[in-house]
Amino acid sequence: MTRVLEMSRSLQRRAEGLFPGGVNSPVRAFRSVGGDAPFLERAQGAYLYDADGNRYIDYFGSWGPMVLGHAVPEVVDAIRYAAGRSASFGASHAGEAELGELIRTAVPSMERMRFVSSGTEATMSAIRVARGFTRRRYVIKFEGCYHGHADGLLVKAGSGVATFGIPGSAGVPDEVAHFTLALPYNDIAAVEAAFAKHKGDIAAIILEPVVGNAGTLIPKAGYLEALRSLTEAEGALLIFDEVMTGFRLALGGAQQRFGIKPDLTTMGKIVGGGLPVGVFGGREDVMNMLAPLGPVYQAGTLSGNPLAMAAGSATVGRLIREAGTIYPQIDETTRQVAEGVAQVAADTGVRLTTNRLGSMWTWFFTPDAVENFEDAAKSDTAAFGRFHRAMMEEGVWLPPSQFEAAFIGLAHGKDEVEKTIAAARKAFV
Ligand code: PMP
Repeated sequence: MTRVLEMSRSLQRRAEGLFPGGVNSPVRAFRSVGGDAPFLERAQGAYLYDADGNRYIDYFGSWGPMVLGHAVPEVVDAIRYAAGRSASFGASHAGEAELGELIRTAVPSMERMRFVSSGTEATMSAIRVARGFTRRRYVIKFEGCYHGHADGLLVKAGSGVATFGIPGSAGVPDEVAHFTLALPYNDIAAVEAAFAKHKGDIAAIILEPVVGNAGTLIPKAGYLEALRSLTEAEGALLIFDEVMTGFRLALGGAQQRFGIKPDLTTMGKIVGGGLPVGVFGGREDVMNMLAPLGPVYQAGTLSGNPLAMAAGSATVGRLIREAGTIYPQIDETTRQVAEGVAQVAADTGVRLTTNRLGSMWTWFFTPDAVENFEDAAKSDTAAFGRFHRAMMEEGVWLPPSQFEAAFIGLAHGKDEVEKTIAAARKAFV
């Protein structure tokens, strides 16, 4: 039986009259995988429901935030309660410190922090404060890592930038991109060479410690440790962009999982429980460079928004209380889906490389190891597109790009694992 998508198609036409490509974020378009992007009406637990009444198992979780599942009663109640006391104050309130303390309990390197409204703002601001503190100009990033859409970070970026083959964005002057050094991930020699070339002028290294935005890339043994000791030796700051990995790979994110303490950390997604939140923070001496204490400026009308803080506190609070069961459960469910589908692929002669850590993973349509973006780019994206369309038809919604990580949440269980493996059996035929 083929899906009916009449309502979604009509909503798409309506949206195209308003929004470029019909979307408010390019990664929502299904251009690279083909097929129609369903318009959603609601979501509950592990399931998405579209405007035509089709149901899908959700494997992108709003691109990461929905680790507890959709419309979780305690998060819904927290938002409702906060909304009744006003959607916004534009002044300080206790909800900010409540979420801030929860974050610092889980991620002790966040000695001081500041809330913003997106991951983009968090990374942009972290880099500004790193430059202000070090009084240096260059920033090292890695090919295939995505750190939001601030001008200086759209250089050889991942996510939609990789999906749509845009190496650097039009509209970013070369003079701005000049101070961003994009190096291959998992290659320490490249970082050493950059430090030698720009001696005393590299402010920071920013990276996704485990990459999600090139598809999932896992750091080689010793890689993160080497970045830590190099930055320390060179007087540069190490910034972990944990917008995706924060509260996902462990309660304390990738930095807990790998035992590395960055100078600054950025987070978003899960810390907002589905509402627009970002946060950046870290060393007190660095963060105290920010206005009103110091000369680095950064601000936001809706920063620390009461609804967003409430949703974040409800989500993070639950993760803290139940970390001992939640993380083992989502890791195990992910292992079953990732390995189960990989086995189906192997049985049907499709050669995949599965990269997985905790509850994030990618099936790369290439038989070779994928350790950096160049490896990921060798994937057969047409075959991925066929697989994606077939899985959608079977009611399984994977992120619509080879260069994105898939996610699992607490609401996924045995039933969803079995359905997904059965769907893959049909998709790979
Ligand atoms: N950093 C990382 C690692 C991300 O995955 C993202 C978003 N996918 C961002 C930054 C940007 O966050 P936002 O979309 O909230 O601006």
